[in-house]
Amino acid sequence: MRILLIEDSARLRGLLCEAIRDEGWKIDAFETAQEGRVALREGEYDLLLLDLGLPDEDGIDVLKSLRDAGTQTPVLALTARGAIDERIAGLDAGADDYLAKPFHNGELTARIRALIRRSPVTSMPGLLELLMRNGGKVVAKARIEHTFSEFGDERSSNAVELAVSRLRKRLERHNTHLSIETIRGVSYLMREVRD
Ligand code: CA
Repeated sequence: MRILLIEDSARLRGLLCEAIRDEGWKIDAFETAQEGRVALREGEYDLLLLDLGLPDEDGIDVLKSLRDAGTQTPVLALTARGAIDERIAGLDAGADDYLAKPFHNGELTARIRALIRRSPVTSMPGLLELLMRNGGKVVAKARIEHTFSEFGDERSSNAVELAVSRLRKRLERHNTHLSIETIRGVSYLMREVRD
């Protein structure tokens, strides 16, 4: 699991990195919204830990633009203690959960695990197998949703879209010469790409 952290407090960044690495997870940590945005564009993350009080840009705006761009990475917002308005704004802007500072490391990692359980990562091998077995043929989204339900994942079309977009990135990163096309928004087609 790979986590992206955007948090301007160096002290908190250090503590968070330590807590997350103790769990055996990978973490990339950045101080500013600007650096975080670049990392999000270029990398692939299972979860974003986002401080809402950043110096260069409002964390809420980062969140909004992320969701507007269709990014479905789970977001755990870090908020100031007692900042109820900030929590509400964060959830409304697309955060999946929040954690008020100061927090206990045990609660942090438990919330991360809960968010990951709710995201469709576990279906990835099922999706790849299904698309490969049907290579060159169109596979309906409904059929993928059915496969996901067998893995115990939510049967939402968002889950399918998220998993397909992650799988695309992986195929690209590993130079597999395989592409997944979206057909009329309701089906997918995996095929070999020749250069
Ligand atoms: Ca801050």
